[in-house]
Amino acid sequence: MTFSIHGLAVARGIAIGRAVLVASSRVDVAHYFIQPEQVQVEIDRLRQARDAVVEELKRLQHELTAEAPPELGALLDVHLMLLEDESLSSGVKHWIEKRYYNAEWAVSSQMEVIGRQFDEMEDAYLRERKSDLEQVTERVLHFLKGGHSPVVRTKPHVRPQQELQLGDTMDVPLVLVAHDLSPADMLQFKQSVFTGFVTDVGGKTSHTAIVARSLDIPAVVGARSASQLIRQDDWLIIDGDMGVVIVDPSPIILAEYGFKQRQGDLERERLTRLRLTPAVTLDGQRIELLANIEMPEDADAAMLAGAVGVGLFRSEFLFMGRQGNLPEEDEQFEQYRRAVEGMQGLPVTIRTVDVGADKPLDEARHDAAHLNPALGLRAIRWSLADPEMFLTQLRAILRAAALGKVNLLVPMLAHASEIHQTLALVKQAQLDLDVRGVPYGNVRLGAMIEIPAAALSLKLFLKHFDFLSIGTNDLIQYTLAIDRADESVAHLYDPLHPAVLRLVADTIAEGAAQGKSVSVCGEMAGDVSMTRLLLGMGLKSFSMHPSQVLLVKQQILRADTVKLKALAQQVLASEDPAGLLAS
Ligand code: PEP
Ligand code: MG
Repeated sequence: MTFSIHGLAVARGIAIGRAVLVASSRVDVAHYFIQPEQVQVEIDRLRQARDAVVEELKRLQHELTAEAPPELGALLDVHLMLLEDESLSSGVKHWIEKRYYNAEWAVSSQMEVIGRQFDEMEDAYLRERKSDLEQVTERVLHFLKGGHSPVVRTKPHVRPQQELQLGDTMDVPLVLVAHDLSPADMLQFKQSVFTGFVTDVGGKTSHTAIVARSLDIPAVVGARSASQLIRQDDWLIIDGDMGVVIVDPSPIILAEYGFKQRQGDLERERLTRLRLTPAVTLDGQRIELLANIEMPEDADAAMLAGAVGVGLFRSEFLFMGRQGNLPEEDEQFEQYRRAVEGMQGLPVTIRTVDVGADKPLDEARHDAAHLNPALGLRAIRWSLADPEMFLTQLRAILRAAALGKVNLLVPMLAHASEIHQTLALVKQAQLDLDVRGVPYGNVRLGAMIEIPAAALSLKLFLKHFDFLSIGTNDLIQYTLAIDRADESVAHLYDPLHPAVLRLVADTIAEGAAQGKSVSVCGEMAGDVSMTRLLLGMGLKSFSMHPSQVLLVKQQILRADTVKLKALAQQVLASEDPAGLLAS
């Protein structure tokens, strides 16, 4: 039966595919695709794990003493029966053979399928047997579990087309459905087969959503109970423009969305013609369109989109998911070097590490996080709390600056003392390199304006820094006291709130008055509905996901900043900026 689920639209476009549900088991399960030639290995692994559990249960049964409660023996019988159940084992094999899931993933998927059948049973006694099923599968998973693997692994090696048989499924598009995904998990999408994704939780500018947008695949977050309502293998349409997920669509709906999908592809194709067109407004203002990247290899997408540099390299992605083994100076240098060389002489703005809040270093540390992580030890606060770690990063960035134009950007500054400490550490890093005789280059120093306190102390910032970059994602979060990753308050996360607009406009104006460049690198910069307003405020530099660059350029080519200045003044004076902008 067709039904739809509403969430937040985070990454544009339409994806149509079969649902792949992950991480619904209570056990921490590895999910990855195997190569077709590994199918038998996985089935053997499964058989061994099952045999081990059977043996263990039989031994327990054997060891039961006469005093043991009789229910215990009966329970073990039920568990053994479940293990021998044909629908369990053939179902698990199905996921391995047809979907190329690893054995753990296959077991947890099948447990979910059968678990739902238990839920639907009339008889309360039978319904309760679901917990036995869970216990048995968890035992099997326990035996299967060797090392821990991350959520999504790379593309399986797809067999040549002629070998694919009807019903074989690697040619079926897959979309991922999860309760939640960390930003680090999302990064793995870059090599995955998924063409779209849905999560239950998350806000529009949560880092998971940001990474999704950078991958340019349709995504919906904050879809509440999607991972419970959607079943393994359901056909789904993900409408990333409207924030809607359609489950089990009828043929008419499928045809309609298939058409929309093709229209979207054509539109993108058409836009690529603007790649080399300079971003100049009708009245002759040259606008700088920069790219936000997460990994050095994203430089390719930035170049392809015609960006004239990187305005924000979120270096923290190099630090995540490493179980606390932070990258050393040489390793970091190597990554920054790749980004600088990838941009072929264009400038690269490397932001110092910004972990914390919804970007945990790794899940283990996340658990130990403080109650209010967004207000806690994140970004520059984290760096200043560990000067050795910070110095290591600064040295690596300075070394990369010897190879090309590099700007160094510092996140989340608010206090004069933080500015002074940061600048002193940059000097210290230069000294360290001098002593070692290692070459390094000059960097332009920039501060992110993403805390209202910073936006209200611009003179201090402009005195010490060469440029400013407005992080609207956090500026909105901290101005409005709205957790950007919390879908329950997403309706109050308002980029057009007059207070937010005032802070953004003042930062742009103050920077211009002092002859220093100001950029916006939050999601606002890539949101085409905001382009005209930002141009009217006098913004000359926008930094966004490569996937947005051409769309924003299209807006710029049609804009007249003289006229837009008047619009911006009206919007800034209005109590209803959204209404005015829409009219
Ligand atoms: C921002 O806050 O707007 C920003 C660009 O930084 P991040 O999204 O990584 O916090
Ligand atoms: Mg930020």
